[in-house]
Amino acid sequence: MTHRVTLSVKCPHCGHIFIDNSYQINGKPAIKVDVKTPRELGTLWLCPIYDCFNHESSIEIREKEVVEVFCPHCSHTLVRDILCKVCNAPMIGFNLTAGGKVNICSRKGCHNHYLVFEDVNVALRLFQEKYENL
Ligand SMILES: [Zn+2]
Ligand SMILES: [Zn+2]
Repeated sequence: MTHRVTLSVKCPHCGHIFIDNSYQINGKPAIKVDVKTPRELGTLWLCPIYDCFNHESSIEIREKEVVEVFCPHCSHTLVRDILCKVCNAPMIGFNLTAGGKVNICSRKGCHNHYLVFEDVNVALRLFQEKYENL
């Protein structure tokens, strides 16, 4: 059985929810953020399904390139002072609307990501609800 958890994420600074109802990936509204490469600025859409790495962007992001991600609402950076344990690039952090956080690596092609819950009950509830909705 494949269990797919759809993440609803928001800005840790202003609380803006990063969902773009007009843009879908895998049939789900995508997570929309601003992205910056060493060359240009653009928009990045991420699949909201945890463990899915599909994404699309309005600009070219080269393989292995480290990008910076910003909130499209308040323009704060979402880069955290945590480094990826796999490739040493900075991690990008989103807050989950259900509580807790999800951190993803800022390097294209690196699939390191993890959820952080201060309250284990929030984690249980999140996963349980999704199982029941299958
Ligand atoms: Zn914000
Ligand atoms: Zn990494």
